Amino acid sequence: MGRAQAAASIQYRFSFPQIEHHWMQVDATFPDVPSGTLELRMSRSSPGRYSLHDFSKNVYDVHAYDESGRELATGRPDAYGWDVPTHGATVRVTYKVFGDLVDGTYLAVDETHAHMNMPAVIMWARRMDDRPSTISFSEPPGRDWKLATQLHAGSKPFEFTAPNLQYLMDSPAEFSAYSLREFVVDGHAFRFALHHTGTEAEEDSFVADVQKIVRTEEQVFGEFPNYEPGNYTFIVDYLPYADEDGMEHRNSTVITSSTNLRNAHEPLLDTVAHEFFHNWNVERIRPKSIEPFDLERANMSGELWLAEGFTEYYGPLTLARAGLASVASTLSRMLGFITSVALSPAHVVRSAEAMSQMAPFTDGGTPIDRTNFANTVTSYYPFGAAIALAMDLSLRERTDGRIGLDDYMRAMWTRYGKPGGAREGYVDRPYTMADAESALAGVSGDRAFARDFVARYIEGHDVADYATLLAPAGLVLRRQFPGRASWGQVRIEARGGAARVSQPILSDAPAYRAGIDMGDTIRTIDGARIATSEDVAAVVARHKPGETMQVQYVDRTNVPKTVAVTLVEDPGLELVAVESSGGTLTAAQRAFRNHWLGPQ
Ligand SMILES: [Zn+2]
Repeated sequence: MGRAQAAASIQYRFSFPQIEHHWMQVDATFPDVPSGTLELRMSRSSPGRYSLHDFSKNVYDVHAYDESGRELATGRPDAYGWDVPTHGATVRVTYKVFGDLVDGTYLAVDETHAHMNMPAVIMWARRMDDRPSTISFSEPPGRDWKLATQLHAGSKPFEFTAPNLQYLMDSPAEFSAYSLREFVVDGHAFRFALHHTGTEAEEDSFVADVQKIVRTEEQVFGEFPNYEPGNYTFIVDYLPYADEDGMEHRNSTVITSSTNLRNAHEPLLDTVAHEFFHNWNVERIRPKSIEPFDLERANMSGELWLAEGFTEYYGPLTLARAGLASVASTLSRMLGFITSVALSPAHVVRSAEAMSQMAPFTDGGTPIDRTNFANTVTSYYPFGAAIALAMDLSLRERTDGRIGLDDYMRAMWTRYGKPGGAREGYVDRPYTMADAESALAGVSGDRAFARDFVARYIEGHDVADYATLLAPAGLVLRRQFPGRASWGQVRIEARGGAARVSQPILSDAPAYRAGIDMGDTIRTIDGARIATSEDVAAVVARHKPGETMQVQYVDRTNVPKTVAVTLVEDPGLELVAVESSGGTLTAAQRAFRNHWLGPQ
């Protein structure tokens, strides 16, 4: 309302009086507060996360004061916020927030760092989204810490700024005695802030490989985005007490793992390749469904197969192209993508688009009640990566290798990512499903091909013919155990001489079709007593696909049953290079494979 509204900066002060008890103190001053109730909110979700986290649960000791230091009455309109109904122009709010989880979503305060995802820390005010903010950090007693963040540097040490709420909430911070490596690629500055337990030599070797990833991914798009603070920051915590995570942000990423550089060099590089690819795909090439990000509800998107899945595909692809992964490990990742769709009954139930829309329920961990996700949900990460693989190989096959998925990603970048946003932290041209299809029509030069591809593999329930698509690269996709009989993957828990089915059975498995399910206890098969999973395997091994076994079991309501189970061929797949399976790699196959997986 006031004349200064556009410029008045919200001040946040963070201090850490008792790091050993995992809480921090926040002191927030809101100037030029609009008249009417001041609605203070803790976020329910976090940019790039699709389920609810309800960060207000760890906030306590909340107080509001006026300019003269007099305490103001606060109310609770709901579980996620505090109201200040009566106030003057300036309101100061103080609270404590507890956090002890090192990952990309939450807050961790301990003796070694304050590792902060802002939605877990910051109480913000409705109707003040456009306000800039200033964030200052006070060191805990006796510590000599530094700050790694994509926030803009302020006017003094430990002071930072954000132009608006969206940018602030997208800006994680690591406050610790981390180790810093800096490098420049094509005039763009990169900072690698590493909090770990390893050696300097391990860090140097890892950062050298990170640079190869940065260069290799730049080649896909032909350029880096314009990083608003003047650089891009990797915030990396490899600590025994960290969770496994990677979280993309506009000008930074948070990567955490309980493993270390000595034991997990390649898997950790894969996460770096994934997260760095996001600074184009998601942060700037952004689905309209998550722009701007809603901090007060679960954000549902039908495009995560592209936003996350295609990014997932570029992880192993980048490592292969940069010479950082063996052919065997690349093929193993590609096979994983294919089987996530081909060997799961879930794609019959939900399309890739519908699967993306399940993220609010699958992104946040295991629900308390049982679900049928085993049969109805395949993660949009490998599912989307399998679609990326099919799109890449289809485009290459149609154009003698001239055009591939890189061209598609570059088209999406040019149309939707590169134009950027008038306001920092926003994307002015987010894309829709129709836009994603139109870009495919443009790149392939064939509108009918694009429609058919989207209708079958993204909106529909078809599985691409990966064996045919992979053949031009001299790769053979085939049954891993031809002729071997199977009644499905049935997990048996042997306890007290009883063989109990301990996990859900996939709905396309012979055992499931015969009526067997989790909780049933198998007594005999073909008359042989069953006490362990080995007992089952021994009976199944005597059969061929198409034959029938008699299974006696007691269901979980204690009713004895006998069913006939008709066995199928073990559906397991393997992906091998033709030259390592007795065949010969032709010159054309070698060229196709190098053009796809080799240095670009
Ligand atoms: Zn991702």
